[in-house]
Amino acid sequence: MTELIVMVGALNADLGIRVAKLPAPGETVAGRDVETSPGGKASNQAVAAARLGGRVRLVGAVGDDEAGRMLRDRAKADGVDVAFVAVLPAVGTGQAIIPVDEAGENAIILIPGANGAISPGDIPDAAYDGASVVCLSLEVPMEVVVNAAVRAYAAGATVILNPSPFRELPDELLDAVDVLVVNELEAGQLLGPAQSFVAVDGAPALREALAPHGVTRFVVTLGAQGSVAVDGPAAAQIEPSPVSAVDTTGAGDAFTGTLALRLAAGDSLADAARQASVSAALSTTRRGAQASYADRDELARAIA
Ligand code: ADP
Repeated sequence: MTELIVMVGALNADLGIRVAKLPAPGETVAGRDVETSPGGKASNQAVAAARLGGRVRLVGAVGDDEAGRMLRDRAKADGVDVAFVAVLPAVGTGQAIIPVDEAGENAIILIPGANGAISPGDIPDAAYDGASVVCLSLEVPMEVVVNAAVRAYAAGATVILNPSPFRELPDELLDAVDVLVVNELEAGQLLGPAQSFVAVDGAPALREALAPHGVTRFVVTLGAQGSVAVDGPAAAQIEPSPVSAVDTTGAGDAFTGTLALRLAAGDSLADAARQASVSAALSTTRRGAQASYADRDELARAIA
């Protein structure tokens, strides 16, 4: 039977609006091309892995509204199991309002809604049943993330943490993590206040910072510079795929979703990161987040 991958975290309805320029305080600007699309890190990661053929379960919460139904329907259309997406009656579905100007610059208003209201009690034990890999991100309350990590780790699953948006990580959480996936900024934040992660040379410092927690496997994504995969003493530099990027929205989630899929399939961390890197690069060649993700055939062609 195919390995089960469980993504725990946020589902958001992204409301994209084109503007000539972003409004200054007190200013009114005209917007056009309003478009609602599925987003949120866990939802993106789930769709990325499912579209590549993974058996994927999404765990999180939405409100009892149109946006919540859209998010579940779109994930389901990609084959994602949404039976453990709780419908919370008292709050709305999480939303991100994203005006984008002509230069591609954006500003984001995030309305957490159900993502902020979910508690560990909304997630039954059965959500983690049979999971080979459990993937976590930080757009839901920290107690939900810690609880999921501890339960998944105890059940023997490989726990992947993508600590984004970055917050201080409790020891209890790091102790339950097997693989950490961070971008350059988050890697610097993990190293400490005012630290920065410097490309491949930063690997030893991060290895040292994570060792006390038993985290010996991590990947740092470096945008157009590719990524670095560290597995114990070995560090592999993954070259970026040469693509003409038009929109990097959701590229990090394509990376994490693909990495989860390949780790569940038994790949080494470096091999999984190589596939994730190609998958993420493909996603930058098209607009949007989930709409830009590759399917199995396209990824196979790009790797061949
Ligand atoms: P995040 O969006 O989380 O900050 P990154 O910007 O590091 O993450 O991007 C994640 C991954 O997406 C990178 O490691 C790389 O594989 C791929 N990627 C992003 N931008 C490009 C690009 N311009 N060209 C090729 N690959 C890219």
